[in-house]
Amino acid sequence: MSDPQAPGTIAPTAAWPESLRDGDPGGSPPRLRHFVNGAFTGAGATFDKVSPVTGRTVAEVAEADAATVDAAVHAARAALRGPWGAASVPQRAAALRRVADELDRRFEDLVTAEVADTGKSVPQARTLDIPRGAANFRAFADIIAATGTESFTTVTATGAHALNYAVRKPVGVVAVVVPWNLPLLLLTWKVAPALACGNAVVVKPSEETPSSATLLAEVMAAAGIPDGVFNVVHGFGPGSAGEHLTGHPGVDAITFTGETATGRAIMRAAADGVTAVSFELGGKNAGLVFADADLDAAVAGSVRSSFTNGGQVCLCTERLLVARPVFEEFTQRLAKGAGELVYGWPSGDETMTMPLISTGHRDKVLGYYDLARAEGATVHTGGGVPRFGDARDGGAYVQPTVLTGLAAGARTNTEEIFGPVVHVAPFDDEEEAYALANDTDYGLAATVWTRDVGRAHRAGARLDAGLVWVNTWFLRDLRTPFGGVKASGIGREGGAHSLDFYSELTNVCVELT
Ligand code: NAD
Repeated sequence: MSDPQAPGTIAPTAAWPESLRDGDPGGSPPRLRHFVNGAFTGAGATFDKVSPVTGRTVAEVAEADAATVDAAVHAARAALRGPWGAASVPQRAAALRRVADELDRRFEDLVTAEVADTGKSVPQARTLDIPRGAANFRAFADIIAATGTESFTTVTATGAHALNYAVRKPVGVVAVVVPWNLPLLLLTWKVAPALACGNAVVVKPSEETPSSATLLAEVMAAAGIPDGVFNVVHGFGPGSAGEHLTGHPGVDAITFTGETATGRAIMRAAADGVTAVSFELGGKNAGLVFADADLDAAVAGSVRSSFTNGGQVCLCTERLLVARPVFEEFTQRLAKGAGELVYGWPSGDETMTMPLISTGHRDKVLGYYDLARAEGATVHTGGGVPRFGDARDGGAYVQPTVLTGLAAGARTNTEEIFGPVVHVAPFDDEEEAYALANDTDYGLAATVWTRDVGRAHRAGARLDAGLVWVNTWFLRDLRTPFGGVKASGIGREGGAHSLDFYSELTNVCVELT
C-alpha cells in the first residue's frame, strides 16, 4: 500500500486531496485500478475521468481488456469453491454488517469520491447517496437472516406421503453493471443482496464514476470479505469492460441498471448463455397534480422530483399533468421554484442543483432544449447554459427548465432526457390524467398529489408504473418491490424480491413412509 505508482499494490484512493470536493484535483489525480482476486491491478490502457464541475481530470482510470475481465470472472468462480461458498447465512449476514461498519468508517472518503466524480453537492452526498451504501448492506443482512423457504406436506390418493422443502442456493457469479447517477447507492443495492445470497460478484461501474466502486473494494478487503468474492473491472460498455463482462460465458446472472437501449444490447449478449437478467432501466415519469392537492406541497415536491441530482435520477418527473383549474398557478410557481435553484460549488451548503455528468450528456440535454422549441414549446424558465465567470464554465451545467405547450406525442415529451427539465400539461378529468400518464413506452414511477383518499388508491391501481408515490417522492423502504413495467425494466429487486433473483431454489422431496 506504500508505493502509489506500483500496479497491483496501490491504495487507489488514499491520496485524494480535499480539493476534489469541488472537482478540482489540485495535484496529480489518483490512479484507479481494477480489483481482482483481492488485489489492485491494471497495467495497460487508461482513460481520464474529468470533473463535471470544471472539466479537469480528477482520476486516471485503468480500462479492462477481455483478459482482465476473464481473470475477474475466474476469481469469482474460485471464491465460490472456497470458504465463502461454505459460509452459513448467519456468517454472511455478519459479513454484510462488517461491510456496513467499514462503509461508515470511510464515510467522508466516499463523500469525496462521489462528489469528485459527479459534481453533486457534499450535503446531498452526505444525506442521500452515501448513507444508503451502509443501509443497503444492513437491510439485506436483516432480510437474509429473517427469510425462510417454503415447505409442503404432500399426501397423494395412492398413499404417498412426502415432505417438500426448498433449499436456497447462490446463483453463482453475478455481473453487476451500473450507471453514474447514484453510483454507490445503486451499486450496493445490488451487491448487498448478491452477497447475502452467497454469490461472488464482478462489478462494472460506469466509466463516469469509477471512484466509489474502487473505494468499495478497499472497504470489502478491510471488512474481511474473502479474495475473489468482490471484483471491480473499469471501462466502457461496447467493445470494453461492459461487453466483455456481460458476454462472458462464466457469468451466471446479470443485474443491470441503465438505459433501456443498453438493456437491449445486454439482453442479446445474455441470450447465448440463457443467462438470467434483472433490469432497472429508463423512465419518462409522470407527476399528477389534482385540483384538490395541497398546492404548496405539490409545487415543492415537483421541484424536488424534477430537479434533484440535476434531474439525473431514473425516478425523476419529466412530465407533469396538472388539473386545469390549478394549471396556470401551478406552472407559474413551479417555474419560479426552478429559477430560484442555486448552483453553488459542490462543497457549499447552499448547492441545490449540480452539473450534468459530462459535456457529452450536457450537449444531449441542450439538444432536447432546442428540439422542444422546434416542437413548439413555451420555455417558462431555463432553456440554456448558466455562466459563472469562474472554473465552472468548463463544467457541464445546464439551467433547470420548465416547458409547456408540447403535444403529447412530441419527442421531448416521450423520450427520456435525464436532465433538469419538465413539461407541464393540463388535464380535465381523472380518466384523462391516467390516459396521458400511461401514454408512454416506459413505466417506472409516478407521483400523485391529491387530498382525496379514494383517488390516491385508484391512482395506485390505474397507473402503469412499478412505483406510485402519493403526496411524496423518493421515499423508499428497502423491503418493498422496486422495478419498472414496459420498457422500464424486467423483474423486481428489493426485499425478498432481490433474494429471488440472486438465488436458486432447489425443491427437495422426501418420501416419509
Ligand atoms: P448506460 O446504459 O449508458 O450505462 C450503464 C452502464 O452500462 C455503464 O456502466 C456502461 O458502461 C454500461 N454499458 C453501456 N453499454 C454497454 C454494453 N453494450 N454492454 C455492457 N455494458 C454496457 O446508462 P447511464 O447513462 O450510465 O445511466 C443513465 C440511465 O440509467 C438512464 O436511462 C436512467 O433512467 C437509468 N437508470 C435507471 C434506474 C432504475 O432503477 N430503473 C436507476 C438509475 C438510472
